[in-house]
Amino acid sequence: MFNSAKTRHSLVLLLSLIFVSSVAVQVSAQQGFEIIPINDKVVMLQAPDGGGNIGAFYGPDGVLLIDDRWDRDTESLLEAVGELTDQPIRFAVNTHIHPDHIGGNNNLAEYGVVILAHESVRLKMLTELRIPRRGGMFFPQPSAQARPVITYSKAISFHLNEEEVRVFLAPPAHTDGDSFVHFVQSDALHLGDVFRTNFYPIIDHYNGGSYLGMIEAMALAIEIAGPTTKVIPGHGFGLSDRAGMVEVYDMMITVRDRVAALIAQGMSLEEVLAAAPTADLDERWGGEATWNQNDLLPIVYEELTQ
Ligand SMILES: [Zn+2]
Repeated sequence: MFNSAKTRHSLVLLLSLIFVSSVAVQVSAQQGFEIIPINDKVVMLQAPDGGGNIGAFYGPDGVLLIDDRWDRDTESLLEAVGELTDQPIRFAVNTHIHPDHIGGNNNLAEYGVVILAHESVRLKMLTELRIPRRGGMFFPQPSAQARPVITYSKAISFHLNEEEVRVFLAPPAHTDGDSFVHFVQSDALHLGDVFRTNFYPIIDHYNGGSYLGMIEAMALAIEIAGPTTKVIPGHGFGLSDRAGMVEVYDMMITVRDRVAALIAQGMSLEEVLAAAPTADLDERWGGEATWNQNDLLPIVYEELTQ
């Protein structure tokens, strides 16, 4: 049995090498990942732009990936995983539907990787994609091969590499299909785009996101975390921790309460925007051209006046 497993692994590895050389032709701009270790089983793979951060969980039973960025990053992703282990990538979980987190699905499926996601993610792959930036950008419908072959409605657990990895649906936050990933023994979390450490949170109303839900989701993540928990953010440089999550949570509560106070004074959305209620926070959180306070405040206003 050991021998047949070994043969299978060798075959997958061989196929992966063939695959790497075939993608090399298609990928022009190569983008390397920085490997940021949490321990000898879990790492964060960070691209130079600090976006779509990937989690890799590895060991003698194989590799589980959390998210896979863009199609163009697969070659670099395989190289980074190859630096960690010779074992094959067996599973990839998509934390949510956005193209910078699922873009590698098609390539990974080609390589034999089993793709998993919340059922809402798969349903959204049956049409063209839309994201909230720049007034609602469209992206092509992912290929049939890129769709998750295993979906869950609430939670799914992996039992690999002598560890339990719990994947479960968060309250509607960034989208309505956000999964949190908890590496129980390694004391680590990957929160997808519910947790961004660099800018204001993105609430994707095209895909069922909710600002108030995101506050709830952050509270849940903070509750799960302990003082030494390492947290992989969906966007932002480096690992974070419980204190980093509390900083984001407090900011979100502040924004909610300030907008609510202006609504209580009878202000319209235009008046709220003119009052710049987040002026002192914008330098820390509002530096992204395609998503800043002018995108966030209307959503907070709308949810609080519903
Ligand atoms: Zn996203």
